[in-house]
Amino acid sequence: MKNALEEIADEVFEQLRSRNAGFCDCLQCRDDAITHALNKIRPRYISGSPIGSAVTRVALSQLQVRAEMSVVLLDAMRRVQARPRHLGTVAG
Ligand SMILES: [Zn+2]
Repeated sequence: MKNALEEIADEVFEQLRSRNAGFCDCLQCRDDAITHALNKIRPRYISGSPIGSAVTRVALSQLQVRAEMSVVLLDAMRRVQARPRHLGTVAG
């Protein structure tokens, strides 16, 4: 089961991509951007403690989380766009 943060990341990504026509359409770039954003934003919402990992959907539905997610995701998308991994999985 996806956690609430991942669901928000998916939603926000789709919104941002629809406004950024230049962003690559492939799954690799999508996954990279979302993974990067989640890695960055997660520690702020999920501390790693048992209580933290039980952050509720209600808490995460706040507009603030979406706003922060869009900032972090936009940054992640710029990084992916600058160095897309789909071009050279072998060369690394
Ligand atoms: Zn791509």
